Amino acid sequence: MEGLLNELIEQCRPDTAHGKVASYIPALAQADPNALGVYILDRNGLHSQGGDSQVRFTIQSIIKPILLLQALMDNGEAFVRGRVGVESTGKPFDAINIADAVNQEILSEHINPMVNMGAIVMCTLIQGKDYRERFDRVLELTRLLANDPSIDVDEEVYRSEKATGNKNRALAFLMKSCGLLEGDVEEVLDCYFRACSIRVDCRDLARIAFVLSNKGRDFMGNELFPARYAHYVNAVMMTCGMYDGAGDFALTVGVPAKSGVGGGIMAVVPGRMGIGIYSPALDKKGNSIAGIHVLRRLSRQLELSIF
Ligand code: GLN
Repeated sequence: MEGLLNELIEQCRPDTAHGKVASYIPALAQADPNALGVYILDRNGLHSQGGDSQVRFTIQSIIKPILLLQALMDNGEAFVRGRVGVESTGKPFDAINIADAVNQEILSEHINPMVNMGAIVMCTLIQGKDYRERFDRVLELTRLLANDPSIDVDEEVYRSEKATGNKNRALAFLMKSCGLLEGDVEEVLDCYFRACSIRVDCRDLARIAFVLSNKGRDFMGNELFPARYAHYVNAVMMTCGMYDGAGDFALTVGVPAKSGVGGGIMAVVPGRMGIGIYSPALDKKGNSIAGIHVLRRLSRQLELSIF
């Protein structure tokens, strides 16, 4: 397997030149645009890696499935489903998902937990006495899923996004104005920005994906969350995880996955494996360009598509 991964890295690394590192969060612009790494954990316990798999980077939107999972664990499916829809928006991650005449019902059905608006609402559904405690619970869940207690926050990226995240402020205030978001906007956003700044590597993403691929159980068979929540999270990732690139990704890779503007992609191959990718040069939709190419080739070679 490592031979195959190294070959794919070599074939796909030139594709990084066709993408651009995110710079709308200024601290992300420091990433090496040529980096490309992959890590796989399969159901036989085989770990395989290639390229820059040990680089640490911020999880960004790959925290969204974890925010959804925590909200499900704290409130159950019916409540979460009642608050935020599950339809693909077909729009960029930070889109304002409705033009006019907003009310809570209309807006909540036009968003999903994989886009910014939905993920910000998820932060309000997580239990905790204040937003610091809610964030701490998200960080603990991330560490548990990745079996990595050293996972921490990149304070520089956090401060950078907090200082510049005015589009997210606009989204949050819009939701507040129609009753979809409760609580203090700045506190909710602080939890969201911190959660996006959690620092991981490809192995962490592969391990988190493995638990999702294994119906909520870790490699030792311990149940970390109920199987029905893995079903919920994977289904929403399948249709919404790659934003306005989700349809093409379903066609060419064919597994639930989530991307982040830090360059990560987490891919869940149900019953088979978890995959973590890092390559910060992004395509126009904000997805890792070489990362998607690695996944396409891997999917063809190993017949990973669920379709
Ligand atoms: N923190 C980023 C934002 O809200 C996450 C976006 C992403 O990774 N697609 O803009």
